Amino acid sequence: MMAAEGRKIWMDGRLVDFANAQVHVLNHTLHYGVGVFEGIRAYETAHGPAIFRLPEHVARLVASAKVYHMPIPYSAAEISQAILETQAANDVLPSYIRPLVYRGEPALGVKNLKGKVSLAIAAIPAKKYLGEGSENGIRAKISPFRKPHSDSLPSFAKAAGNYINSYLAGADATLDGYEEAILLDTHGYLAEGTGENIFLVRNGTLYTPGLESDILLGVTRDSVMRIAGHLGYPVVEKLVSVNELLTADEAFFTGTYAEIAPIKAVGHYTIGTRSPGPITGAIMAEFRRALRGDDPKYSEWLTPVPTLARAAARVRAK
Ligand code: PMP
Repeated sequence: MMAAEGRKIWMDGRLVDFANAQVHVLNHTLHYGVGVFEGIRAYETAHGPAIFRLPEHVARLVASAKVYHMPIPYSAAEISQAILETQAANDVLPSYIRPLVYRGEPALGVKNLKGKVSLAIAAIPAKKYLGEGSENGIRAKISPFRKPHSDSLPSFAKAAGNYINSYLAGADATLDGYEEAILLDTHGYLAEGTGENIFLVRNGTLYTPGLESDILLGVTRDSVMRIAGHLGYPVVEKLVSVNELLTADEAFFTGTYAEIAPIKAVGHYTIGTRSPGPITGAIMAEFRRALRGDDPKYSEWLTPVPTLARAAARVRAK
């Protein structure tokens, strides 16, 4: 159970005590995985608390909900406001913010499109997702479980049900003593981690799988591509083979929770000669400066969190 003294969860316009944030056990999302969500972070910055790339996360949440026929009863502006209010109410930094769009009423029957669509938002303390290796390199395993093709499960939607695949891959890697799994697409090219995108570095160029490898288009992936551009490293989106990974100079994961995590080994193969490698290290340092509000180049990535009193232009229940 998460430590939750005094925490609040935003549920359809109300800030509810953590312990009372409940739904019926026969709800549609629990049984069929039909829900969409986001993972967002807030940081302490040079200019006060701020949320990283809030509009991009809200836009992805709205797009994911559209794919799954779940019209969110709040506008993008209202969702952003509610996220800021939740962060302000919880006063925890760095935080991990989890908006979830779900059908919470009792409703069995997979085809049921009628149930009320609800929005819940939590803001909990963020930890190092991939452990201590997050800084110095983790060991990953190529998963025996592959990413489903987007013709079956659209990978660009961040849907709850997609994570049953991540769960299988992650459990297998954990039970084998690795920190993370790398999933391949249905054709055997690299796709992504259980909750991260993947990059390789070869001869000063970054390579990363594209949408054709059934990945989630990560917000951190986009941030890294822009940072690489500023630092003068070319980035190529392409089909990436396992051999290219095993013989890469450097490799790393990117994700909101994982941030940028160097990969020091894949199975029995050591990646490069040191971890993080020089280009990964330079990108990590620039990313950190962006998160901390230390570089005006990236200031538009940070949305300031108002005090709870100022966030009080509340989004009301619908
Ligand atoms: N792929 C998957 C499957 C994920 O769950 C995540 C985490 N949202 C990512 C990639 C990275 O996306 P982002 O950088 O937007 O967090």
